[in-house]
Amino acid sequence: MKKFLFIVVVLVGLFFAFYTKEKNPFSGKSTMAIVSNDSLFKESFAAYGEFIDESNVIENSKDALIVQEVGTKLRGAAEKWLKAEGSEDYLAHYEWEYHLVQADEINAWCMPGGKIVIYTGILPITKNKDGLATVMGHELAHALLNHGQQSQSANILKQLGAIGVAILSSGESYNTQEIAQTAYDAGSHLLGTLPFSRANETEADEIGLALMTIAGYNPEEACAFWSRMSEQNDNTQFDFLSTHPSDEKRINALQAAIPKAKEIAEQMK
Ligand SMILES: [Zn+2]
Repeated sequence: MKKFLFIVVVLVGLFFAFYTKEKNPFSGKSTMAIVSNDSLFKESFAAYGEFIDESNVIENSKDALIVQEVGTKLRGAAEKWLKAEGSEDYLAHYEWEYHLVQADEINAWCMPGGKIVIYTGILPITKNKDGLATVMGHELAHALLNHGQQSQSANILKQLGAIGVAILSSGESYNTQEIAQTAYDAGSHLLGTLPFSRANETEADEIGLALMTIAGYNPEEACAFWSRMSEQNDNTQFDFLSTHPSDEKRINALQAAIPKAKEIAEQMK
């Protein structure tokens, strides 16, 4: 019976992993879509609205207007790209917002569906519009690449895996069950979630670089921004946190991605 249930859970997991996929027009890759964007966006928009209500949002200052300007240009770049791919309706349910929030943190993030926040603390490091386009391009890319949907989908698979382990070890002593569960949690975090997130960061860097280039910003400045970022004593606040590649690796990867970004931008002209 136990084995039967376990097989059912594995089959359900495999079904989700292989059959609920969508092809992303930016990366060209098939990604997991177990959670629908409809429900995810609804939650995301509500949470973003709450955050904005409770935050010190800066409007109409020179910097706030620059955040709007860069966001709008990057959004235009994404639309151009989708048009070229014949996927204009991809953004139908996106509701783009870019807000500058007064906070010392060196941070920026995005929520699914195009909800972006830039903290004033990062502006001395972005320094100019190209630097800001680097950060915002990265954040827009997370939204466009549906990374929120993917990580939620991965969490569901992880939970299914946990159910499978619980079924297999049921009837064993409590200690064995606990060990099996802990081992699963650690394993799925290291093997699943962590590299998955690192891959997302690298992907957001590359697509963000192409977006800023299409929007008319200088991609070389992305490397300059990351050099300035690496000089910070504490840059762990940024959305990458513990999963981001080392700064040096990141700068090298960005440098290597510049020709492709320019090539994509050239095709969009
Ligand atoms: Zn990121």
